[in-house]
Amino acid sequence: MGPVVAGGDGRPRVVVVGGGLAGISAAVHLAEGGAAVTLCERRPFLGGRTWSVPLRPGGPEVDNGQHVILRCCTAFLDLVRRIGAERDVTVQDRLDIPFLDGRGGVARLRALPLPSPLHLLPSLLRFHPLSIGERLGVLRAGARIRAMAPAERDRLDDRTFEDWLRQNGQSPRAIRRFWDVFILAAVNLPSREASAGLCLTVFAESLLAGPRAADVGLPRVGLSRLVHDRSAAWLAARPGTELRLDRRVDGVLVEGDRALGVRLGSGETLPADAVVLAVPAEDLADLLPAPWREDPFFAGPATLGTSPILGVHLGYDRPVIPEGPRGIGEFAAVLDSPIQWVFDRGRVLGRPAEAGRSLSCVVSAPRAPWLSGKGPAGKEATVRVATEALARILPLTRGARLLWSRVVLEKRATFSARPGTAAARRPAETPIAGLVLAGAWTRTGWPATMEGAVRSGAEAARRVAAVAAFRAVVETRA
Ligand SMILES: Cc1cc2nc3c(=O)[nH]c(=O)nc-3n(C[C@H](O)[C@H](O)[C@H](O)COP(=O)(O)OP(=O)(O)OC[C@H]3O[C@@H](n4cnc5c(N)ncnc54)[C@H](O)[C@@H]3O)c2cc1C
Repeated sequence: MGPVVAGGDGRPRVVVVGGGLAGISAAVHLAEGGAAVTLCERRPFLGGRTWSVPLRPGGPEVDNGQHVILRCCTAFLDLVRRIGAERDVTVQDRLDIPFLDGRGGVARLRALPLPSPLHLLPSLLRFHPLSIGERLGVLRAGARIRAMAPAERDRLDDRTFEDWLRQNGQSPRAIRRFWDVFILAAVNLPSREASAGLCLTVFAESLLAGPRAADVGLPRVGLSRLVHDRSAAWLAARPGTELRLDRRVDGVLVEGDRALGVRLGSGETLPADAVVLAVPAEDLADLLPAPWREDPFFAGPATLGTSPILGVHLGYDRPVIPEGPRGIGEFAAVLDSPIQWVFDRGRVLGRPAEAGRSLSCVVSAPRAPWLSGKGPAGKEATVRVATEALARILPLTRGARLLWSRVVLEKRATFSARPGTAAARRPAETPIAGLVLAGAWTRTGWPATMEGAVRSGAEAARRVAAVAAFRAVVETRA
């Protein structure tokens, strides 16, 4: 057995590679469990895919894309509490989602304080974007999903969700105006492209899981403040924990089938008892020496592929979101439009002066015309499509002047949750002793979300702890 590299004080030393939410979660759980943790992140800040982008150099920031959670995201909410940021995220008291139908109408999906699934029944029966027959069809499909065992859902990973929905009586309009609204947001693909197994799990764990499971939660501060600032401060205050930003890890040091530490881009090596790789699936194999990098366990995840998300952030010279009964509150789903969701960032961030004027539009898995142009001309075209779409749903924008805009296209926002995805996801434990995986793409059972990332980090920490405990027993006996 190789030597146990302790943190100088007898504690197991763990290097975590990747400072996204998965790596942060692993580091926090490991540090709380008593390990000496070094977290290495190649960028100058923590957060990975959750970060804020300056509108202009040195200017105010917008998030790379509006991030949303649900009350069922218990691991994420737990992490937020651990790092002292519980006030920075709030969850609705009761699910309430306005849907703008593109013709000036607002439909609402609103939960009532009734046992599940009755909590959604009244608002689904009144959901006017669908015909009465379609509403009843949605209810029947919901009941079918609730009755499915997890293993039955998992077996449907080789089919598209659209396939399953059609087989279960859903019309193309019901798919477009109801199912896809949630599926695009949750798995970042439309149901015609997404794995049925994963989509069914999303509904089973959220809307259908309990009367409060799908209450919507939003960060009340910018993502960099929520994730980078809070986590960095937490780690800095933890004795024996080291944060190395702007430090690219070049490779994992492996001897035989045991990980011994990592090598940084600078050439420095960091010996460790255990290494947690919390990097994107497509970067995994490159961090391993031959022959491991060709091993299907490590090479396979790159086949997951990625799916983009587009954020269009717009600042108007006056409020463009109506107040009162025709108002939408903080956000709305948008039907039959190139824009899928619109958020009133002024309200979300509690900035009255910006309320109704500072908007973020989200387009998951964007297709042409969104992706057609590059450079300033492409961005202008994107802003034009967004403002024209907004003019149809928020007529007040027509008389308003656009003061600023920022387009953020995250090309690798999530893994591509197509049929067959489950086979390319990996558990935390690897064939290399002392090497553990984390990341939203690992086998969490969740789509690529903040919740999935945080769960994976907690699971990685548990695996490390299990191995460390095992080794301690072995060494005491020896
Ligand atoms: C625009 C957008 C909108 C989204 N909306 C939502 C939403 O509404 N709700 C939701 O739950 N999720 C949403 N997501 C998804 C969510 O952000 C991600 O699933 C999650 O943040 C992924 O975390 P991760 O730690 O697994 O990976 P990442 O965030 O990708 O972290 C990996 C980290 O590893 C680092 N790294 C890679 N290689 C190295 C190396 N060699 N050395 C050192 N560091 C390295 C990277 O720099 C990165 O920081 C959205 C994502 C985007 C982009």
